[in-house]
Amino acid sequence: MIPAVLVIEDELPMRRVLRSALDGQGYRVWEAGSVEEGLSAFASRSPQAVLLDLGLPDGEGFQVVERIRETSEVPIVVISARGEERDQVRALDGGANDYVTKPFREAELFARLRAALRSAARATRHAETLTIGPLRIQCFERRVFVDEVEIAMTPTEFSLLQVLARDAGRVITHRQLLRQVWGPSYIDDVQYLRVFMKQLRQKLERDPTRPQLLVTTPGVGYRLRPPE
Ligand code: CA
Repeated sequence: MIPAVLVIEDELPMRRVLRSALDGQGYRVWEAGSVEEGLSAFASRSPQAVLLDLGLPDGEGFQVVERIRETSEVPIVVISARGEERDQVRALDGGANDYVTKPFREAELFARLRAALRSAARATRHAETLTIGPLRIQCFERRVFVDEVEIAMTPTEFSLLQVLARDAGRVITHRQLLRQVWGPSYIDDVQYLRVFMKQLRQKLERDPTRPQLLVTTPGVGYRLRPPE
């Protein structure tokens, strides 16, 4: 996937420089010129990284960092003319990943951006390992282990297991599962679910005829039951 970068910067010439540099490196680019535009673009575009100016017409970049961090760990690299240490510390304390001072060299900016993207990918990988009893699911790599033995999964089997595992212990209805795994137009195709649930049980249960992990709630749905 090509990472999309949101540039929040009010000076047009600087935004153009950043856009063309990012384009040249193969990133997709979204632009915003104020705190408000930036937060709204962030919410609607879900970029993989944010380049953020501190002095904005309707407020300060710090506010943007604070608001984004309420919901997201997306990498934020601050770009600012202010070289003062106080501002750097404040931005980093607020949750920004890195800080580049204007004027900057493109090579340096991109090295920092790549480092921030890599560390975000590592953090996601780490956070997205789900362990439920004997089961370990590495969401980022889409790998599944039972008692440390890797189990081969089809993409659909994996998606189904992941939806159940993210809400382990809770019953997920047939329609919820069909919508999340196959899409909204499949919500009545309960037969799909039966077929794939049977396959999952054959792969994951000690005795697939008496499932201990992937439990049916008759007439409602399924749940992934954590062991007592
Ligand atoms: Ca500015």
